[in-house]
Amino acid sequence: MVSWEDAIKFHGHECGGLTWGYKVAMFALEKLDFDRSSDEELVAIVENDSCAVDAIQVVTGCTFGKGNLIFLDHGKHVYTFFNRNTGRGIRISRKKGVHIQDIMSAKNEDIFEVREPKEGIPKKARIYRSIECSKCGEGTMETRIHILNGDFLCPSCYKENITNNANTI
Ligand SMILES: [Zn+2]
Ligand SMILES: [Zn+2]
Repeated sequence: MVSWEDAIKFHGHECGGLTWGYKVAMFALEKLDFDRSSDEELVAIVENDSCAVDAIQVVTGCTFGKGNLIFLDHGKHVYTFFNRNTGRGIRISRKKGVHIQDIMSAKNEDIFEVREPKEGIPKKARIYRSIECSKCGEGTMETRIHILNGDFLCPSCYKENITNNANTI
């Protein structure tokens, strides 16, 4: 079990967003009967990139690097979790009229709106091979490579190329 103090240490400061994320994460683990110490198969879909997501990562073990934290840039305080072992999922949002300063001491049923997930369980993260960019030479995941006039370009070199060409027209 990750303590509130551990979450603060990970995030760097104590704030309302972190509190919210911590409550959401603890609630999700409970609802999905998930034991972080033994199970590996939890997936989180977060619809914002606020402080709350740091608490989600440290409490649930769903991290950006492992590929079981999926970020959707929707600007919504909505969090969906799936337990791959049981196939169960939960979509958690904040009830209307809940104030962030009351969250830590509030009862779960007073602050959380719980729904069925809108989407199915996401596919597992895949490992792709790396291709060397023809311009900068940096290895780039094959699915991110652009092919331009027979060159393999990484996203930043591709963008640069497009911008330069646009300027000369
Ligand atoms: Zn914060
Ligand atoms: Zn490049």
